Amino acid sequence: MSYIEKNIEEVRKEIHETCSKIGRNSEEIQLIAVTKTVDYERINKAIGVGIQNIGENKVQEIIQKYDVVSNVNFHMIGHLQTNKVKYIIDKVKLIHSVDRRSLAEEINKRAKKHEKIIDILVQVNVANEETKFGLASSEVFDFLEKIQSLQHIRVKGLMTIAPYAENPEEVRKYFKMLKEIFEEIKTKKFPRIEMKYLSMGMTNDFRVAIEEGANIIRVGTGIFGRRNYNQ
Ligand SMILES: *Cc1c(COP(=O)(O)O)cnc(C)c1O
Repeated sequence: MSYIEKNIEEVRKEIHETCSKIGRNSEEIQLIAVTKTVDYERINKAIGVGIQNIGENKVQEIIQKYDVVSNVNFHMIGHLQTNKVKYIIDKVKLIHSVDRRSLAEEINKRAKKHEKIIDILVQVNVANEETKFGLASSEVFDFLEKIQSLQHIRVKGLMTIAPYAENPEEVRKYFKMLKEIFEEIKTKKFPRIEMKYLSMGMTNDFRVAIEEGANIIRVGTGIFGRRNYNQ
């Protein structure tokens, strides 16, 4: 068994155990294998053991991998420049990182050209970190009101990246905050906005994120090992 296979098995076991502990069904949880900097062979190993969704944070990597990696859904999870939307619009299943109106409008425009409707998540910077992208919690409702009429995008939920913490208990509060916003949006009954996906939790904190309601987790290091950015 390869280390990738073992790691995936371990992550699945932990998803399962976390869910059992709190009475959730582990089938609710979508595992996205984060494949940034990971080469084709290793990605294909993961797909070979049942990974159906991969996450990338660079447009360039999506373009390069799209033709050589098949039978998997691509997710855009990183900061997306408006002028690069056109390169990935026909390649991605879900864009997790929508954080401004100009980006939502560009996705809408490009999706319309392709006669598609693109699913998106709104990225929220719940911890208000200066170094991170995402809307402030206080901006989310106003943002949804402004983009809700765009006919070629469909808002499907929220995403956040928690600050890194040695002890994941320290970021539990941020997951709780995002879940609260998620539930509050549901009560507003925006006609075209569905709060279905809550994308939160990475290698270090996905157990806590699941406990707080995540149904999409994004795991890179825990599957492929430490990333080498110099290759
Ligand atoms: C890199 C990345 C991840 C995965 O991080 P790990 O700690 O390696 O699991 C998840 N989400 C986003 C947005 C990322 O950029």
